Amino acid sequence: MRVPFLSLIPAFRELRSEVHEAVARVMESGLYLLGPELAAFEREFAEFIGSRHCIGVGSGLDAIGLALRATGVGPGHEVIVPSHTFIATWLAVSHLGATPVPVEPDDRTFNIDPTRIEAAIGPKTRAIVPVHLYGQPADMESIGDIARKHGLVVVEDAAQAHGAAIGPRRVGGLGHVAAWSFYPSKNLGALADGGAVTTDDDTVAEACRVFRNYGSETKYVHPVRGLNSRLDELNAAILRIKLRRLEQWNARRARVAARYGAGLAGCGDLVLPHVPGWARPVWHLYVVRTQRRDALRRHLQADEIETLIHYPVAPHAQGAYADLRLPEGACRIAESIQGQVLSLPIGPHLPDEGVEACISSVLAFHA
Ligand SMILES: *Cc1c(COP(=O)(O)O)cnc(C)c1O
Repeated sequence: MRVPFLSLIPAFRELRSEVHEAVARVMESGLYLLGPELAAFEREFAEFIGSRHCIGVGSGLDAIGLALRATGVGPGHEVIVPSHTFIATWLAVSHLGATPVPVEPDDRTFNIDPTRIEAAIGPKTRAIVPVHLYGQPADMESIGDIARKHGLVVVEDAAQAHGAAIGPRRVGGLGHVAAWSFYPSKNLGALADGGAVTTDDDTVAEACRVFRNYGSETKYVHPVRGLNSRLDELNAAILRIKLRRLEQWNARRARVAARYGAGLAGCGDLVLPHVPGWARPVWHLYVVRTQRRDALRRHLQADEIETLIHYPVAPHAQGAYADLRLPEGACRIAESIQGQVLSLPIGPHLPDEGVEACISSVLAFHA
């Protein structure tokens, strides 16, 4: 059985008639940017997250950058970021003229290790950007304590964690401000690039609204230098439909994760995802760890089971950051993780037979 890592087609098929109706409604409205669909999505997503404000923007990368800029981060500042993340977290900082300062992950959760953050704080530090990687919430309580102690802003990179929670509280409403991506493969995905900022802070929200629209509140009046970064009406309308499915689809992901957990427990040297007692993840990815990662991946590929690696090369080791000159071994834990992690197929429409085929193939590899 061929098992793709993730197919987005079944999601569209499940929503086909609603999406067609929404697309027609937007087309007929004649309003394609900054119209009623975006306003409605912003209201609905803010309510879902439990934030006062939501501002729809052009991408997750822009959302992180706008959130940081709105909280006062700029040239010469330092921002604490995880060493183990998608490069967008770092790029958003760099594009503001600030410097990303990496902090290593916890070896079990793969999220930023709060016990290592204080050592990275210096006089230029302004913010911490925890990432809820793979849909697993970062330890926001410890991070919040450190931020308060040092007067730092916390900007959550929630691009992989739509609906994840810590106890009763959803991520995205736990820091000062949060950034979201609606890239098509995310748990809440549009049919194009898209993103959002959520916050309870009226001033930060207003700044993001102005920055996303050429630095303008009133047409042709530009008090600040803004971007053109807006979530369009068609995608806002589609995201409203998908938001209504999000919890159901996250629950399906959780069932896949539970089946992997039961089927793969105790299998060879395979380390399965660790979920702290307080965390309610949304399983954006199901990531296992093994010393024999590349051989396992080849074995699964031979069985037509597609896997991915998140991420094969850390930001600090990319050409884009060749000039950072970090001390040798500064991101050793991230490098070790990146040599050993493998993402198994997961998604709300992955059929049971696909999950079972993947489990059988992994078990056969270890037999
Ligand atoms: C996807 C992602 C981003 C960037 O989002 P885009 O919409 O692709 O710009 C940022 N951070 C993390 C952790 C992501 O997974």
